[in-house]
Amino acid sequence: MSLLNDLATQLASGEVQVVDLTHTLDPDFPVIILPPEFGQCARFRMEEISAYDHRGPAWKWHNLTLSEHTGTHFDAPAHWISGRDLPNNSVDEIDPSQFVGPVVVIDCSKGAAQDEDYELTPEFITAWEGEHGRIPEDAWVLMRTDWSKKSGAEYLNMREDGAHSPGPTPEGILFLINARKIRGFGTETVGTDAGQGSHYSPPYPAHFYLHGAGKFGLQCLANLDQLPPTGAILMAAPLKIKNGTGSPLRVMALVPAPETRTTR
Ligand code: MN
Repeated sequence: MSLLNDLATQLASGEVQVVDLTHTLDPDFPVIILPPEFGQCARFRMEEISAYDHRGPAWKWHNLTLSEHTGTHFDAPAHWISGRDLPNNSVDEIDPSQFVGPVVVIDCSKGAAQDEDYELTPEFITAWEGEHGRIPEDAWVLMRTDWSKKSGAEYLNMREDGAHSPGPTPEGILFLINARKIRGFGTETVGTDAGQGSHYSPPYPAHFYLHGAGKFGLQCLANLDQLPPTGAILMAAPLKIKNGTGSPLRVMALVPAPETRTTR
């Protein structure tokens, strides 16, 4: 097993680094807000059970309240109606080999800085491939927008007509699913869809098409600006919740140290 021995050596030496792509679970971190006629996602809440006191003299611990879709989180195919009848569609049933794999990062930060409704298209993806090579099969594709640097009301960016934040076009997500056979798609925003994605037909096309094809989603990612466009390994293992449609999780990437990266 020289491969894993080499990895351990490179982790110890810093030639391979671990990048945390996760926001801190905090009651102030925004959750998605749906139109008022729908059920709503709970924010993170932490209740003290004891803190080295009469309730438990030598220990401190908390009870938590949260949604499957609170904070940095994973979406399983069972999250959407298009994936509800697929086999192994909940977080407890997904093969754990799916939780470790290659990742590419498409940098849309310039476009998103100029246009809050910026959309990732097939044309932009193929132009990216012209520079960085074809997206490998069964890879995670992450859309970097630097949206994770926003906080509070700016992060959701709600208006009378709903949220305004970047995401893929229906054609963009279909291209990744059908022509590139990705494993999943991740964003820095509160959903895999653009804020205005409810206005497409079907509504929320990234959710509809990804989960209908048995693919996964990651949302509320951070630190995508610390990842190389290609060559990193993503680790994203949701909690093993029975029949769970998603889960908060710690998302990490193994990356080559910047000085060892080869450019192409
Ligand atoms: Mn979700």
